[in-house]
Amino acid sequence: DEKENSIAEALANGLKNNEFLVYYQPKFGLTTKTFVGCEALVRWNSKELGFVSPLGFINYAENKGLIHEIDLFVFEQVCIDLADLKKRGKRLLPVSINFSLYEFYCPTFLDDIKSILTKYDINPMLIEIEITEETQHANSFLVISLLKKLRELGMRVLLDDFGLGFSNFGSMKILPIDTIKIDKSFIDEIAYDYKARQIVKTIIEFGRIMGIQTVAEGVEDAKQVETLKKLKCDIIQGFYFSDPAYGTGLVVL
Ligand code: C2E
Ligand code: CA
Ligand code: CA
Repeated sequence: DEKENSIAEALANGLKNNEFLVYYQPKFGLTTKTFVGCEALVRWNSKELGFVSPLGFINYAENKGLIHEIDLFVFEQVCIDLADLKKRGKRLLPVSINFSLYEFYCPTFLDDIKSILTKYDINPMLIEIEITEETQHANSFLVISLLKKLRELGMRVLLDDFGLGFSNFGSMKILPIDTIKIDKSFIDEIAYDYKARQIVKTIIEFGRIMGIQTVAEGVEDAKQVETLKKLKCDIIQGFYFSDPAYGTGLVVL
């Protein structure tokens, strides 16, 4: 429809005119008591539409075939930032990057990633790939083989929004995953809702058994932090520590 087309046009212009930025949000390790990495989140400051949240354009970008360009822009910007920090002698923390389900249908995805890593001489161990459970709807053979290749290169794989939608414990046996991110909707209720707390507890214990790290996302207050400490969650991320922010100050230890 019309709205979709005008957003698509603005997106295409935005990509040409460098209207996209990468913000970073730190992750805090509850046992190490240090920042352990951060997540890269795209931001769009559109000349035509103003500041647009990712939730307001990722879908359109997917439908119009522009998501690959956006995801790769973010990936390349992260590599540029890491290379720059390395040159300045900083101690680097791993950065996780969100990749759309559509990447799994893009035949050049893996080669594109590899050539950007080579171009900026980035150690793949510094890169984590965040995929959503929705990604499991993609041909699972395709997904699994691509994830395995990413891991063979040294990248880690995070499963985002865990607990929502069609997530299931069984798939964790076959999906090559290093980390689960427990969805914010459970974290929101964790301090006062017994059932939400038990769900989170079960996910964390399950992770421990499977050798999978757990991250709580969208942590906003001290009560949630205390509860997550008790449940032995590995890592927390959220406004409690920091909003996503512009600049690479958060990418270093
Ligand atoms: P997500 O991957 O689940 O990212 C977490 C979202 O929660 C981010 O929203 C972040 O800013 C927000 N957030 C973090 N901590 C808190 C908190 O304590 N409270 C609340 N209320 N929110 C918090 P954002 O940046 O608007 O991104 C929304 C979604 O857009 C992301 O959800 C992700 O699915 C998608 N996205 C963002 N960047 C990219 C990208 O580069 N590529 C792709 N394919 N998707 C992206
Ligand atoms: Ca994410
Ligand atoms: Ca999430």
